[in-house]
Amino acid sequence: MTVQRILIVEDTIDIAQALQHHLERRGYETFLATKAGQALALAHTHALDLVVLDLGLPDRDGYGVLEQMRERGDNTPVLILSGRSEEADKVKGFRLGADDYVTKPFSALELMERVAALLRRSAHRLAAHAEANPGGGLSDDELRTRFGLTARQVEIARLLAEGLSNAEIARKLVVSEHTARNHTYHVLTKLGTSKRARVGTILRGGAPDREIDAHR
Ligand code: CA
Repeated sequence: MTVQRILIVEDTIDIAQALQHHLERRGYETFLATKAGQALALAHTHALDLVVLDLGLPDRDGYGVLEQMRERGDNTPVLILSGRSEEADKVKGFRLGADDYVTKPFSALELMERVAALLRRSAHRLAAHAEANPGGGLSDDELRTRFGLTARQVEIARLLAEGLSNAEIARKLVVSEHTARNHTYHVLTKLGTSKRARVGTILRGGAPDREIDAHR
């Protein structure tokens, strides 16, 4: 099993460090963003398993981060960790697509259990999906004929489906990041989606963008 990657979005540095300490001790890899803009950039370029999201951030509300992630079709589990304890705040968080909400001050032990539970649930979801799609979806040949992809583009599409960023694709294929970005752009265009997060579904035989729109 690969190491699970967690993005911590927190501008109070001692809280961020405490979170990092607890999560890393449990074997997770962590990334830290202290601003909303940085969080969105990281969520876009890295394959993450979970986001722990503070709401009060210097540049923009944490809700904005969550909203934009969901708009992009990014369904990474999000746990809001905030000092805001009003019911209205929690309701807003869940309506925007949060998976859990913990108020500060928090118990590290409980938080770690909630993180583990969320990761377990999302692993189950993925496994159930794989089971419902035996054979793992479209073959390389089907991808070439259905979408007009070249062999190279099939390779890129598979990497996108695994959640790799342009930088990671560039490293894997030993090309420049600029080239990887170009490839990604052409593959997404041929697949008929603007969202990298949709590629996995499309490769498993799902419709390009309809599913997301239906949830709006
Ligand atoms: Ca804060």
